[in-house]
Amino acid sequence: MDADSIVDDFRRYFSHTLGRDESADTSHQMYASLVLSLRDRLVERWRNTRLAYQEANCKHTYYLSLEFLMGRALGNAMLNLDVDAATADALRTMGVELEALVEQEHDAGLGNGGLGRLAACFLDSCATLQLPVTGYGIRYEYGMFRQKIDNGNQLEVPDHWLRDGNPWEIERPEYATRIKFGGHTEFITDQSGKMQVRWVDTRDVMAMPHDVPVPGYQNGTVNTLRLWRAAATEEFDLSEFNAGSYTEAVAAKNAAEHITMVLYPNDSSENGKELRLRQQYFLASASLQDILREWVKLHGNDFSQFAEKNCFQLNDTHPTCSVPELMRLLMDEHGLSWSKAWTITSRTMAYTNHTLLPEALEKWNVNMFRRLLPRLMEIVCEINAHFLSEIALRYPGDTDRQRRMSIIEEGDQQYVRMAYLAVVACHSVNGVAALHSELLQQHLLHDFYEVWPKKFNNKTNGVTPRRWMAWSNPTMSKLINQTIGEGWITDLSQLQKLKPYADDAAFRAEWHQVKQANKQRLADLVLQDCDVDFDTHAIFDVQVKRIHEYKRQLLNVLHVIHLYDRIKRGDTADLTPRCVLIGGKAAPGYMMAKRIIKLVNAVARVVNGDPATAGLLRLAFLPDYRVSAMEIICPGTDLSEQVSTAGKEASGTGNMKFMMNGALTIGTLDGANIEIREEAGAENFFLFGLTAEEVDANRASYNPGAIIEGDEDFKRVMGLLTSGNFNLFEPGIFDPIIHSIYSSNDPWMTAADFRSYIDAQRRVDQAYRNRDEWTRMSIINTATSGKFSSDRTIMDYNREVWKLPQVAPKQP
Ligand SMILES: *Cc1c(COP(=O)(O)O)cnc(C)c1O
Repeated sequence: MDADSIVDDFRRYFSHTLGRDESADTSHQMYASLVLSLRDRLVERWRNTRLAYQEANCKHTYYLSLEFLMGRALGNAMLNLDVDAATADALRTMGVELEALVEQEHDAGLGNGGLGRLAACFLDSCATLQLPVTGYGIRYEYGMFRQKIDNGNQLEVPDHWLRDGNPWEIERPEYATRIKFGGHTEFITDQSGKMQVRWVDTRDVMAMPHDVPVPGYQNGTVNTLRLWRAAATEEFDLSEFNAGSYTEAVAAKNAAEHITMVLYPNDSSENGKELRLRQQYFLASASLQDILREWVKLHGNDFSQFAEKNCFQLNDTHPTCSVPELMRLLMDEHGLSWSKAWTITSRTMAYTNHTLLPEALEKWNVNMFRRLLPRLMEIVCEINAHFLSEIALRYPGDTDRQRRMSIIEEGDQQYVRMAYLAVVACHSVNGVAALHSELLQQHLLHDFYEVWPKKFNNKTNGVTPRRWMAWSNPTMSKLINQTIGEGWITDLSQLQKLKPYADDAAFRAEWHQVKQANKQRLADLVLQDCDVDFDTHAIFDVQVKRIHEYKRQLLNVLHVIHLYDRIKRGDTADLTPRCVLIGGKAAPGYMMAKRIIKLVNAVARVVNGDPATAGLLRLAFLPDYRVSAMEIICPGTDLSEQVSTAGKEASGTGNMKFMMNGALTIGTLDGANIEIREEAGAENFFLFGLTAEEVDANRASYNPGAIIEGDEDFKRVMGLLTSGNFNLFEPGIFDPIIHSIYSSNDPWMTAADFRSYIDAQRRVDQAYRNRDEWTRMSIINTATSGKFSSDRTIMDYNREVWKLPQVAPKQP
């Protein structure tokens, strides 16, 4: 682990394994050489961890997720192996800049946003807590698209992140698994008179595992993320060969590999495409077969202990094909009865819901489902039949309830309701923040809550303090370490010890200095990527997240237009200079979200180009918001914008990263904001807006036209928008946005919160002008952010759902 041996390995990989010298630009090969050197050090710990789990013969949890938004792995590996200093030394002796190599790594963008990043934070926490947890996901050839901005519009560029190879992964062809699609089922009776189902005439695809190491924080544990790639089966269609269609036969095999070609870039909305269902089943079947193969190797077809030893956590409904697939494998492949298979399935499966938005609830057309997965469709129908007869017994004559609760939605077309399938089959159903879990029980899943109240629970999300503080904010971490020691990195509640230092002027001065330096790093990024100059004396006001109407980037823009209007009319006496940064990707088919990006850029061009705003106001849109960008953004932020319509944001996790890094939040009572405010104290949080209850109660009488008419500031803002002030050469382009604000059916009720948002922003301006007071509040936010460590979240899952032992790796 010392610098000298890292130098030796690095040189050997560079000159011999990769066969390079310094005659050309070989930065990427240097990066790869460093990764391979570190990977060697992980591999030993990886094996010791695996052996320890085997020897303990303990329960294991499998985290099934269509998304793992891992970002870069190099910094995290150095931190968790505790070799960052040694590595920097090693590279320095060779005249190589560590920072430059870190920048060589392409983000692993195998996710859309919060849901995928949560899975990544959870893996880090499970390894750090030494829990036997394996992640299963898909190795997309193309991850989340790269976002370019052209004339203010989003352009999507394919993200071929694997082009230069991925030195972190290890392919495991010995565990390749066959996945069935299509065909039909046959019912046969065996010699003993038992009914047997065979799924035949299928078009099969191979699933090839690629393992990625997941190191815990300086504890010797290395867990596994196993990502599946689709590959053609070996055999070719001989009849096609014989008919002379050699090339067609080979080309057809290519189709198999399309399954894992690309991540669907939709966040908080489903799309119902067949390829997406293929991806979902591919992940479910490959992972379950992988797990059952290992089980049978040890226990044969004895599944009596299976439920005690295995747990499957479903990250949203995306992997819910696992429910019928586990039933199928247990019954059709391993000979269990329906009731034994059902007992095992329902005792091992747990479901995490991530949204209340109806447009995000997955449902699959029954005809498509049956054509693609005929055996699974039969099993889903049978699960539904069992379930509905239970409901009929419990609520005799209540046919409306049966229709409401059925896993199959009836109508012109039939659909499988995946959330209902998950709730019926799983023994645990959780939401991701207190309010969200409450709303699930009271509204979306109320019928089910009445039947099974004990299934329902809350697990407030968290984020890993290793990546989001220790790695991304080294200067703040150093100051904290000097002040309260290093214990906080694995026990974030210890940040409480910082609280008294909020009253210490010397500490506040250091805290302020750290923040200013981090703001400069962010300003450098903004200058480079947006060509906009941010002055670190101004408030750095940041909203980065997927672009979605419910997240209300629009409200933020309205505030910027209002500030611009104030500047233009000379009302600047108590205006605090501000730099507003907005970033995030829009789903490629989400026209309204893309138009909001255009609006941000259009307003930015006018505001930044007007000499009147000099020293007072800047607005920038940061292209290609991603994990590695957030690592620079959250340390450099003063004000975190969390302004969703109350009741719509399930939790949010960006809000937590900002809080940990000493940003203050301006936010609604939504998702985890509520808990953030509880922890920080109301006096350290800028609250505004309707509550979730008020949103519901006011919806029927919502009249945005009257609200705008009755508010002079709002009227002027809408006047600027409708006059075409920001789109002189593209008339009408913002009409859909303007109409949505004026619409009494606006689901996000943007106008309803305008006034209280503007007032809250005035309080922000005032607070920021008192540097000592602001710094105090910043320290208190960090000090009270302990609850939002994903370590706490994972301990909650483990205590209440998984019940796994902690297992330290075997010492060699
Ligand atoms: C944390 C994070 C998110 C989630 O942000 P929210 O504000 O909770 O929606 C999305 N994308 C990236 C890259 C993140 O790091």
